[in-house]
Amino acid sequence: DARAPPPHVVVLTSPGAGHVVPVAELASRLAANHGVTSTVVTFANLSSPAHSSPLASLPPGVRTVELPAVPLDDLPSDAHLVTRILTVVRRTLPHLRDLLRSLMDEGVVTAFLTDMLCPAALAVAEDLGVPRFVFYTSSLMSLVSLLHAPELARATTCECRDLPEPVRLPGCPPLRGDDLFEPLQDRAKPVYDLVVGLGIDYLRADGFVVNTFDAMEHETLVAFQEFFSGEGGGVHPPAYAVGPFVRSACTDQEEEAAEHYECVRWLDAQPDGSVLYVCFGSGGTLSMEQNAELAAGLEASGHRFLWVVRHPSDKDCSASYFGRTSAGHSDDDPLSYLPEGFIERTKTKHVGLCVPPWAPQVEILNHRAVGGFLSHAGWNSTLEAAAAGVPVLAWPLFAEQRMNAVKLSSSESEGGVGVALRVRPREEDGMVPREDVSTLVREIMAGEKGAKARKKAVELREEAEKAAAPGGPAHRALAAVVANWIAQRELVREDPIL
Ligand code: UDP
Repeated sequence: DARAPPPHVVVLTSPGAGHVVPVAELASRLAANHGVTSTVVTFANLSSPAHSSPLASLPPGVRTVELPAVPLDDLPSDAHLVTRILTVVRRTLPHLRDLLRSLMDEGVVTAFLTDMLCPAALAVAEDLGVPRFVFYTSSLMSLVSLLHAPELARATTCECRDLPEPVRLPGCPPLRGDDLFEPLQDRAKPVYDLVVGLGIDYLRADGFVVNTFDAMEHETLVAFQEFFSGEGGGVHPPAYAVGPFVRSACTDQEEEAAEHYECVRWLDAQPDGSVLYVCFGSGGTLSMEQNAELAAGLEASGHRFLWVVRHPSDKDCSASYFGRTSAGHSDDDPLSYLPEGFIERTKTKHVGLCVPPWAPQVEILNHRAVGGFLSHAGWNSTLEAAAAGVPVLAWPLFAEQRMNAVKLSSSESEGGVGVALRVRPREEDGMVPREDVSTLVREIMAGEKGAKARKKAVELREEAEKAAAPGGPAHRALAAVVANWIAQRELVREDPIL
């Protein structure tokens, strides 16, 4: 319709690079490929400069608005990260309503899209009669598990880890109870009910825009579709596989910055496929002792490594999420927690480089010198490894990372993609001893068990490339989402009573 203004979508993002990075990418793609402008909405609470940087270079047609801070002083200081985020979301809803109302008064809102952690906001869009979708920045499998969580909570009384049988979800590899979402592991904690509530809130959506692709989750996508539209009567909104979102080309500015990164120059001097890249995402944090064991294991492996080193924390495996100040660290150097002489020994022998606290991950994974990735298996890191064809040592720490690790490390016949070996902490103390680290590093870089994963990783890269090709499946899925928004808008224009 030539008279209609261009579609405009309001996108709500929760904090953390794992959410903000894909939201920025989505907004850019909508503008560049689908003629859709957007307002990206963030929360003043919990924001940190490092996590907001992807929002600093958005294309024309994308603007950002920050919802005002709400008080959180009543939360205990050790409240779970997800409790903090979900509390901020709920308390900010009146501000979101005001914002959506004022944008609607300007006549610009075509649809509302909320981050996977903010489905409580769908009720606001529903009240205002705006088409509403969830932008799900993790695997479809983890979405399915959250949709199943209310049923699991009702039908069982034990803790997940004590479930006698693996959980079998449609089209997903069987999941051990202790591989389900980490906030669902303790019924007594407030975060348990909050996360079960996500599974209920999602049902208000008109659809799920999921950062995944067919080769990664074929069976799950098929099962979800059947579950949605099959004989059963469509209990869930449809899912659109719009991934993999990986920041592909650097902008000139970023490229220049990347060149200045010492680590990229260091990689330039290493042989092809010889370096293990070690990074636990934006939040992953090891204990003091584990940090030292990892260092010893890397050194003993005899393989080259590039390690994004963070401050260790004995209290919280997601402590880095909001920066070291909120994690209670003083202003000291994260490298000072490494074993004595470690930096000098590995640096002089040119076998290792430690970079605190952030590195250009996508550039690194795509560097010819990188041959393996020791990762916390966050979903963005998972997709970035897949798109770069790099095999993974999956060492999950929190959130849905254990599920991602199952997906990565299971064979195809088990419903996985077989590109990873899994790092399993000892049961008695949760530690991964140095011997295990060095054995696994040798395996993934050059061993027999790792050979399969290395081969599969190359195959998965080809599939990821096909999915992300111009005009390919990811593009078409996003076009279908936009078409849905426009169709709903036209319905309302034809019959304003609707
Ligand atoms: N990242 C990065 N440099 C770092 C650490 C992380 O560029 O030193 C990026 C990484 O490429 C990914 C995101 O931050 O896009 C982390 O998202 P993921 O879902 O893997 O983990 P999370 O941070 O949500 O735990």
